[in-house]
Amino acid sequence: MAEYRIGVLDGDDIGLEIVPVAVEAVKAAVARHPEVRIEWVPLPIGYRSFVEHGNSLLPQVLETLYTLDGWILGPIGHMAYPKDPNCVNPHPILRRNYDLVSNIRPAKAYPGVSCINPKTDLIIVRENNEGFQPDRNMYKGTSDCMPTPDMALSLRVITRRNSSMAARTAFELARQRGGMKKVTAVHKNTVFKLGCGLFLDACREVATEYPDITLETVVVDTFAMKMLMDPTRFDVVVTTNMFGDILSDEAAGLVGGLGMAPGLCVGPDYCMAQATHGSAPDIAGRNIANPFAMIESARMMLSWLANKKGDAAGVRAADELAQAMTAVLTDKEAVTPDLGGSGTTTGMGQAICRKLAQL
Ligand code: ATP
Repeated sequence: MAEYRIGVLDGDDIGLEIVPVAVEAVKAAVARHPEVRIEWVPLPIGYRSFVEHGNSLLPQVLETLYTLDGWILGPIGHMAYPKDPNCVNPHPILRRNYDLVSNIRPAKAYPGVSCINPKTDLIIVRENNEGFQPDRNMYKGTSDCMPTPDMALSLRVITRRNSSMAARTAFELARQRGGMKKVTAVHKNTVFKLGCGLFLDACREVATEYPDITLETVVVDTFAMKMLMDPTRFDVVVTTNMFGDILSDEAAGLVGGLGMAPGLCVGPDYCMAQATHGSAPDIAGRNIANPFAMIESARMMLSWLANKKGDAAGVRAADELAQAMTAVLTDKEAVTPDLGGSGTTTGMGQAICRKLAQL
């Protein structure tokens, strides 16, 4: 018997629509395996939490998260938040508080989804908590500052600890996938001799623990070009925060856009399912948002936790959900308009649950 405690934080805008669909899909997958039990813990977050409880990220929510195995976080529309100290963007706090050092962002092409390269199947692991990210790479203060009105400085932070942790995540994934058994470390040590040099050094150190996996290193600008021309030459990619942010959106573009781009943030103790896309206020409330990336993020979390606990039934439930999701993508009546279909958010979720029942 494997037991999990999973938080559900809807987020903003389309988050209120796609997160419930993702939860239903995981529930349907797990229901086929009675030896897997999930306790779902709904928690308020974001603008709705600010309106209802006076804070977008309540202290008691932060406390509760420490008691969970992981949680689903819907997209957050913080750009539209009022300027109020109690209405903060929860992203940096969540990623840093729970030491979610690695952000795993797969880019996979699926039959039925029109895309630039139908053979794409790679994963980008991005260091999540340092680099140029000014809202989380300092103990106090921000690393994006203006010493004079006409000069701005952005400081990048690279540590051996976080680089090694992101690299280890990448090597573990390469081993688990059993594909090309290759990790590509993307860097710019031609210019950032110390920063990217340290990052690469950490990757090389970790590589010695994985003799079955090859480590290659590619300069970021060359990588951006090569990934467009032939994504099939890459398996698992590891890189620093900002490079990873940009490259994972480029990779999403290769496989059909943001609605197809899932993500999982992981650290030593916790994990957080979080799709790559934002809260898409332009389509919110119309039941047309593509729930795929959110469901896939939640599915990845189940798979990650089940692998960690050695729970074979949980891994099977995650694999079966993947099969059902892949099958639905070829059904134009089920998929949402961004995928050229005539379906709805809830309808696509229900179609996935029906497919699961037919497996
Ligand atoms: P952020 O900076 O918060 O990541 P963003 O500025 O990248 O957000 P998104 O909210 O991701 O913007 O939206 C970008 C475009 O992609 C919008 O036109 C939006 O409608 C579309 N989009 C994003 N997610 C989805 C989805 N799940 N289904 C359909 N369309 C989406």
